[in-house]
Amino acid sequence: MLFFRTALLLLFVFVGLALGLEDYYKILGLKKDATERQIKSAYRQLSKKYHPDKNPGDKTAHDKFVEVSEAYEALSDANSRRIYDQYGHEGLKQHKQQGGGGGHHDPFDVFNRFFGGGGHFGQQQRRGNDAHIKVPIALRDFYNGRTTEFQWNKQHVCEECDGTGAADGHVDTCSSCKGHGVKIVRHQLAPGMFQQVQMQCDECGGRGKSIKHKCPVCAGQRVVRKPATVSLNIQRGMGDGSKIAHENEADAHPDYVAGDLIVELVLKEPSLEEDNPDHVDGVFFRRKDNDLHWREVLSLREALFGDWTRNLTHMDGHIVRLGRKEGEVVQPGHVDTIPGEGMPVWHEDGDSVYHKTEFGNLYVEYVVVLPDQMESGMRKDIKAVFNKYRKKNGVDLHKDSGRPEKPVMVSEGHTHEEL
Ligand SMILES: [Zn+2]
Ligand SMILES: [Zn+2]
Repeated sequence: MLFFRTALLLLFVFVGLALGLEDYYKILGLKKDATERQIKSAYRQLSKKYHPDKNPGDKTAHDKFVEVSEAYEALSDANSRRIYDQYGHEGLKQHKQQGGGGGHHDPFDVFNRFFGGGGHFGQQQRRGNDAHIKVPIALRDFYNGRTTEFQWNKQHVCEECDGTGAADGHVDTCSSCKGHGVKIVRHQLAPGMFQQVQMQCDECGGRGKSIKHKCPVCAGQRVVRKPATVSLNIQRGMGDGSKIAHENEADAHPDYVAGDLIVELVLKEPSLEEDNPDHVDGVFFRRKDNDLHWREVLSLREALFGDWTRNLTHMDGHIVRLGRKEGEVVQPGHVDTIPGEGMPVWHEDGDSVYHKTEFGNLYVEYVVVLPDQMESGMRKDIKAVFNKYRKKNGVDLHKDSGRPEKPVMVSEGHTHEEL
């Protein structure tokens, strides 16, 4: 008889395989020898990832969500796991039909029991606060784009006790408040006069549960704070102050769904050592939206006579050539506009066959430095040259400025000569 039953079950196993039912361990990304904790952890992650609330209208995600909860349901219970390990899908089905229990079929129910709440994200379920973090980003990373990571001190559900707070996983209903978390206390105000006050239970701190053996890792707190690594994808052209949301990555807690981690990218003060391994000039560009600004210094000779070039090394290492031909004058404060050498204009598609990145302008402002020392002979020579030519084709700045020759109004008692 026993032999017959086993044979029958084995037959069902083959039927199960033939139907193409996916292995429960595989669904959860686990090996056959996975611990209870690993099973819980896998379900915690996958159920949130595939939850229909997070993937509206996505049939594949929905199916995955159902699969994951089925797998978790089967493997989280020691008895049904043993049956599944031995007889597979059909064995488990038989077991359930024979009234073997564990018959929760609603995946939202499973989710609800695991996280607590209405089986959904959002209003029905308690949700933690969003976490806001500012991450300084070098200008060159905004220009080139970069995948990087950073760490922050995040609250995790304690892995040791899986968020129960108990060393042995055993949690009792608080005997002091009978699980309500609150107690009614009677105060005597005067003889025969009482006042009833509702107070938080001091035994369990309002949780309604009590733990005999506290988890040594979290000291019964159910959560621990430790560094979490977050990967960050800075797309080129992103603005100073752009925000990237990492869904449900804020502080975790066993009683609620974590809020979002909001990462704000803020422009970092330029630093030659840290951010400039390639020794490019671009570190000291100043950004204004999609445009870049640069200040270039010219000597008096260059500004006056022309015939000079400059190679500006941009933030990705390419060269922008500045220059003037012989005889081309540059006025101090003059600004060259160089199209296409500004910041990449951010676009959600980035660079692809369908979309080519455009760039803003680069504005180069010229500063002319006059010599502060001159040999007297040189000064005489230059002066002589100026005097020789100023009458021929020069400009009389005073006359051409349109200003009056003498002050128009002199206030009483203060003539120009007195000052
Ligand atoms: Zn209590
Ligand atoms: Zn713990």
